[in-house]
Amino acid sequence: MTNTESKPGPMTGLMMDESLLISRQIEFAARFHGQVEVVTRTVEGPIQRSTWAEVARRSRQLAHALLDLGIKAGDRVATIAWNTQRHLELYFAVSGIGAVLHTINPRLPLDQLRYVADHAEDKALFFDLTFAKLAQFLAAQGTSLEHFVALTDAAHLDAAGPVPGVRDYETLLLGKPTDFAWPELDERSASSLCYTSGTSGNPKGVLYSHRSTVLHSYAAAMSDSLGISSHDVTLPVVPMFHVNAWGVPYAAAMVGSKLVLPGPGLDGKNLLELIESEKVTSLLGVPTVWLALLNHLNAVGRKLTTVEKVTIGGSACPPSMIETFEREHGARVLHAWGMTETSPLGTVNVLLPKHQDLDHAGQLAVKSKQGRPIFGIDLRLVDDDGVVQPHDGLTSGHLQVRGPWVASAYFKRDVDETHRDGWFFTGDIATLDPDGYMQITDRSKDVIKSGGEWVSSIDVENAAMAHPAVAQAAAIGVAHTKWQERPLLIVVPAAGKTLDKAELMAFLETRLVKWWLPDAIEVIDALPLGATGKVLKRELRERFAHYRLD
Ligand code: AMP
Repeated sequence: MTNTESKPGPMTGLMMDESLLISRQIEFAARFHGQVEVVTRTVEGPIQRSTWAEVARRSRQLAHALLDLGIKAGDRVATIAWNTQRHLELYFAVSGIGAVLHTINPRLPLDQLRYVADHAEDKALFFDLTFAKLAQFLAAQGTSLEHFVALTDAAHLDAAGPVPGVRDYETLLLGKPTDFAWPELDERSASSLCYTSGTSGNPKGVLYSHRSTVLHSYAAAMSDSLGISSHDVTLPVVPMFHVNAWGVPYAAAMVGSKLVLPGPGLDGKNLLELIESEKVTSLLGVPTVWLALLNHLNAVGRKLTTVEKVTIGGSACPPSMIETFEREHGARVLHAWGMTETSPLGTVNVLLPKHQDLDHAGQLAVKSKQGRPIFGIDLRLVDDDGVVQPHDGLTSGHLQVRGPWVASAYFKRDVDETHRDGWFFTGDIATLDPDGYMQITDRSKDVIKSGGEWVSSIDVENAAMAHPAVAQAAAIGVAHTKWQERPLLIVVPAAGKTLDKAELMAFLETRLVKWWLPDAIEVIDALPLGATGKVLKRELRERFAHYRLD
């Protein structure tokens, strides 16, 4: 029988069965856009200019070095590092040889740092000098770590301090062959591991595969998604230790975007310098980072001149921030939602043709939602009993998600209550409208339950942040004898501004329905932030646990 004769039933397609592998992305980058630049603000200080071809060449050298250290397929290799070229090389080399890149968040409390290194059974640790103390801590703990490599050169190795057997990255690569035959892995092999920031209990490990990572890269590059392209100069402020920097390193390699890596310089001044000198067109990060950048721009009276789009996710992006970027800096905002468990891209907010006729306020209302699912992602809402809720834009419910880049279970944990019937329970409360726009009203544990109804803390916060004297806002529920809970609004004043509570309350009255208005306002100096820049509501609830609403 020839391969064109048919048997009854579905036929097998006659297409090449090439695995979706991360090593293909870096080799593609070297071959088809090798001269496109990769620029890093290094931990040592100077700006380092490189290209995708050189990143590929050094990734191959690193692959040899890893094998020489005895790293085998399936071994976990940890990093505690900023967004830099060396970290980028680890992304491709570690996964490329079939080992698993475990990116550790340096902002984790020490007990959790120890926990994740133990739980992952990391064999090697590559760390930036900034985090030498953390490497020293782990080295003293007697974990499974056998190798410690400081991401620097021989001249700076002393700064690593007392870490047994520590060596420097550049010497490790020295003299290694610049070609390497990447293994033909099963595309379902694990490629990287990232632990959730775990505001309660121990962090949980999400184990990505080559297949999920490559599919997610295609998704990130689609024009109705993040639209990462060869025309962009992309600066991911989102750290490479937080959900693989939202997949940007992989997608940028695939499409040949110039990549600008900010290293440790995440403050407004350093970011602005880099944005201007490298003519950055595309920025990605969480709202707290943009707040710092916008404050700096304001303080020095400057405007962004090269940035075309700013992708904002990780926490709700206040509409006032969208307006500032768009009106004052001429940059389009893409509001996106996702989770560590979803690689992270789930939804991205892009307007539809029918929205072009809306006035400014109408468009802003759409843009403030978390966006529409990208093909591959399916979303639905269920009530407390698991009954599927309508997508009418009004009914809120527990948000569930599924798709080829959504975690099916946590690493080394039995399937738990977050995975049921093929869906993952996000822990978010949301609405979905008939066009597919999803809007998060709260984390389920943060909702404010007032007299059997829910007050959306995000809406209260967004309303407060529209006030020019408010820099940051958090709404929490505090106990109330009649209503069970009522909202308390906690605000941080904008730099150089004083806040008049009564005037702020009057402002909110024009923007919120009466029963959503906070019962009280408290002004504090700074909000507590977690390891990934999210406001720690739990800490605020503890701090204001005995608050009395008069
Ligand atoms: P993480 O796994 O640390 O990235 O956290 C994921 C969670 O961050 C989500 O479940 C949401 O609660 C929150 N989140 C992410 N993006 C957004 C967004 N655009 N708006 C509101 N919440 C968001």
